[in-house]
Amino acid sequence: MSGTAETKTQSRVALVTGGSRGIGRASAIALAGAGHRVALCYRSDKEGAAETAAAITDAGGEALPVAADVADPAALDSAMKEVESTWGPVQILVNNAGVTRDGLLMRMSDEQWGEVLRTNLDGPFYAIRRATPGMIRGRFGRIVNIGSATGFTGSAGQVNYATAKAGLLGLTRSVARELASRNVTCNLVSPGPIATTMLEGASEERVAELKGLVPLNRLGTPEEVGATVAFLCSEAAGYITGAVIPVDGGISMGL
Ligand code: NDP
Repeated sequence: MSGTAETKTQSRVALVTGGSRGIGRASAIALAGAGHRVALCYRSDKEGAAETAAAITDAGGEALPVAADVADPAALDSAMKEVESTWGPVQILVNNAGVTRDGLLMRMSDEQWGEVLRTNLDGPFYAIRRATPGMIRGRFGRIVNIGSATGFTGSAGQVNYATAKAGLLGLTRSVARELASRNVTCNLVSPGPIATTMLEGASEERVAELKGLVPLNRLGTPEEVGATVAFLCSEAAGYITGAVIPVDGGISMGL
């Protein structure tokens, strides 16, 4: 009896949104390290995307920076077309692009609410809808959405962000169910506080407070999240779908 899972590494076409820095960059580098060709979608950080691409090509991989605002389905369509005409259909999609526009509930503007919902929740929906036909035709797909521990715990001053991240759970599990028969998996990675530019906006007191809430008592690194993303996109993770994988130092365990 063999019973051995098929774990051979195959080179796939990947697209990481928000691939210009932080968790997206680390995920892209991890995917390239696993032998995949990686498109880096960014909105405005062209220099960061070029740096990520250089890190990948210097290590012998293939990278393609593509500009698109994930909240704009037409722009995403053009970016995906560029990837398809260069390498073929996107087989691995990492929905990582995200923003914060913090503010207390009673003072939160429609713009703050809308921008975060459009980028962090509409964006992944548009990207998944656009990439799915190619995955179905190829009978293979790996979708990883980047949520946040905040989506489960809630966060004062982040009602927009926590709502969008919580919404990703419903999106992830519905997509997982809808596409399972087509060999397309969809999972949610849920980071805790990670040392990136997103956290640089927070005060020292807030960062110290966050560290204090993390049982491992430190911030995570983008590479620690990227390694989990790359695993979920691998052949070895073929039996994992609809899962929530925390990479959060234990912060979401509760008291
Ligand atoms: P960064 O701010 O460092 O990077 C965000 C990335 O998203 C950038 O590449 C940015 O590119 C891109 N981006 C933002 N808006 C858009 C858009 N509309 N269209 C396309 N790209 C966009 O953030 P992190 O690396 O920290 O965060 C990555 C993900 O991880 C986010 O979804 C975030 O919510 C999540 N996360 C982060 C945590 C943390 O503590 N850092 C904790 C939990 C979750 P550009 O500048 O060009 O717009």
